[in-house]
Amino acid sequence: QNASTSTDQAEKTPVVILCIGMAGSGKTTLMQRLNSHLHSRNTPPYILNLDPAVSHMPYSANIDIRDTVDYKEVMKQYNLGPNGGILTALNLFTTKFDQVLAFVEKRAASVDYVLVDTPGQIEIFTWSASGSIITDAIASSLPTVVAYIIDTPRTTAPATFMSNMLYACSILYKTRLPFILVFNKIDVEPHDFAIEWMHDFQAYQAALDEKGRDEQGEMAYTSSLMSSMSLVLDEFYNNLRAVGVSAMTGEGMKDFFSAVEEAKKEYETDY
Ligand code: GDP
Ligand code: MG
Repeated sequence: QNASTSTDQAEKTPVVILCIGMAGSGKTTLMQRLNSHLHSRNTPPYILNLDPAVSHMPYSANIDIRDTVDYKEVMKQYNLGPNGGILTALNLFTTKFDQVLAFVEKRAASVDYVLVDTPGQIEIFTWSASGSIITDAIASSLPTVVAYIIDTPRTTAPATFMSNMLYACSILYKTRLPFILVFNKIDVEPHDFAIEWMHDFQAYQAALDEKGRDEQGEMAYTSSLMSSMSLVLDEFYNNLRAVGVSAMTGEGMKDFFSAVEEAKKEYETDY
């Protein structure tokens, strides 16, 4: 783990920001926002795109999986559907990931940030051997933080909120990397409700109760399950930081980067 041994002040150690999130949460748009923000700060990032199926990419990547594998060709050749094609493309790319990492490492001393975009469908990255191999390879080479992107307007229902948090929780425990919850699209829906629910169990409970009662006013079974689950999540919330951003307007960039710096420190003490 050469990340922790770099006490040499002359050589800087960049931090890798691994963008993970549900399809449509805004990973790619956020990558573009981070990229332009870092350019304006005169610290251009090094960028990896791991989504073989992105059709419109609003930023230019230093390393793009699409330059190595054409997932549509893969679909034809192996007679696969879109998801199979994307997963197989990622698998093929993973076999060459040592070369990719060599490129990143070569540039590491001259950048502050390495940004990584992942496939649109979250499970292709988070529940595949390739996703784990790539994550582990990156994280053992450079300090790495997971930015878990959330579609805030689509997570305002208490039950949806909980599913999303449980998913995030599973990724935290699977990767064991410093973790940032990134509530995106706050231009559409401010994330105050989420912060309140995370910090105030009773507020969440109240929101749940309101939605969880049936016509007779009885608590539905799902709600009582949810309230026990939310106790589990309490521990999870203590282990991470949460920020609100808009990839669209650029709001929240300062908070985002302070969270990254904080998360990076956690990495340095842990490893
Ligand atoms: P990905 O699948 O996670 O990479 O998501 P995309 O970056 O492709 O974004 C999905 C959709 O959400 C696109 O239509 C974006 O324009 C939109 N979007 C992303 N970020 C924001 C945001 O901060 N605010 C708003 N209003 N829309 C956003
Ligand atoms: Mg995308």
